[in-house]
Amino acid sequence: MIKKILIVNRGEIAVRIIKACRELSITSAALYSEADKDSLHVRLADEAYFIGPSASSESYLNIPKIVDLAKKIGASAIHPGYGFLSENADFIKAVEESGIIFIGPRSESVRLMGDKTEARKLMAGSEVPIVPGTTSPIDSIEEAKKTAREIGYPILLKASAGGGGKGMRKVASEDEFESSLSAAQNEALKAFGSSDVYIEKYIENPKHIEVQIIADHHGNYAHLFERDCSIQRRHQKVIEEAPSTFVDGELRQKLTSAAINAAKACGYYNAGTIEFLVDKNKNFYFLEMNTRLQVEHPVTELITGLDLVKEQIAIAEGKPLSFRQEDIYIHGHALECRIYAEDVDNNFVPSTGHIKLHRRPDGIGIRVDTGIDPFSNVSMFYDPLLTKVIAWGRNRPEAIERMKRALGEYKIAGVLTNIAACRWVLKQEEFKDGSFDINFVENVFMPLIPDKWKSEQAQDYEDAVSLLAVLLKARMSEPGPSGNKVPKSNNWTSKPYE
Ligand code: ADP
Repeated sequence: MIKKILIVNRGEIAVRIIKACRELSITSAALYSEADKDSLHVRLADEAYFIGPSASSESYLNIPKIVDLAKKIGASAIHPGYGFLSENADFIKAVEESGIIFIGPRSESVRLMGDKTEARKLMAGSEVPIVPGTTSPIDSIEEAKKTAREIGYPILLKASAGGGGKGMRKVASEDEFESSLSAAQNEALKAFGSSDVYIEKYIENPKHIEVQIIADHHGNYAHLFERDCSIQRRHQKVIEEAPSTFVDGELRQKLTSAAINAAKACGYYNAGTIEFLVDKNKNFYFLEMNTRLQVEHPVTELITGLDLVKEQIAIAEGKPLSFRQEDIYIHGHALECRIYAEDVDNNFVPSTGHIKLHRRPDGIGIRVDTGIDPFSNVSMFYDPLLTKVIAWGRNRPEAIERMKRALGEYKIAGVLTNIAACRWVLKQEEFKDGSFDINFVENVFMPLIPDKWKSEQAQDYEDAVSLLAVLLKARMSEPGPSGNKVPKSNNWTSKPYE
């Protein structure tokens, strides 16, 4: 039996895991960096331990320190949340070797699925359709050009070790191939420490549909239906929902059985997600497997009534799945809006500052998973996700109306957020009728942003973020006129997209 869980994460997901621990009478132990010493997860956990400086590499990613801490405090298990070390096979291996239970899959499954080309190879041999392209990193320009010609332009060059929507480059024609390849390899090396890049056909206007799977240590596998995560900005999800309006019974059957095949192919146990792109003709292609709890897991919880974190803990304790596939059905409709601290008008540059006001929505059908409260500090060190607002309704229109109400009630002062932008999306015809695809934000939203704020190239955005980080760092180390070391924050969140 698990008695104490060390939560190797921060923010809303750490808070989410603390709540599951509390319901199971398990002691929750948080860890925190310098920047997080006053954070909500630290105050809510039963125990909290300082792990190191603010930079993630020295705190939330420091494997030896974290494993040592887990042993020292007598943790029986580690929950990694998502991001940080959750998909780091070396970390999971170190936990396995320490005798502490890892709440997630075995390290070998994570290693297999962590490399995109290796995963594509495995899927191709397991009756899971993959996006046309290469299943090995490019090592000959001529061979690669030949493949690109065969599958037809446009293509995408993708980093084998990519993640977080980064390391992708669209190539429109063969003229651009060589220059794009060297740029993509350089970017991949800088971002992921490996210059390996491979080819995927660029799928025009697809939907991003993913399947939640869950498996125990006894060979039982189940799926928990699909989520539609097509509302994205810069390849990162903003609004997710379950079920998908686009998926009919026949497609659901195909997607879920492909997902179970994918999980079986890598000997998977615990919760995981298989991501697919689905084109207008309902052809679907494996994109990747996320070998961890997903940010958007609450929408699945609301339509199935399951608590995925509690299921994860039970599986890690060696218990069989608490349900049979045939007992699970879709009940109503759920939507999630990710509330980020960011300046929507300025290419979504992260916004930092002290939270001065946090008036959260509530009422029937509304769930708020948050990592902040009044007086939290939103620093530049970590992902800008503040809160997830999740709405449930008996049907999709009801869930949308509830979400609109909740977002209208939600007030955050101290940093800029995307709350108003999310509300705007919910009101658009393409969203209401379900015809949106992964390019919705780019094609429908971005043209509304005044030109002076728009960067022509994604690189400009990266430069802006780096510049902002440098400026903020400089300001933080210099006391201002008031003697306050923290930069003055932005003001109210309201932006005119209503
Ligand atoms: P990451 O691991 O960085 O999240 P993914 O491979 O999961 O990268 O892709 C993230 C998003 O990028 C997808 O949801 C989709 O919007 C877009 N994308 C990825 N591959 C393709 C493709 N072959 N064609 C069109 N869009 C793609």
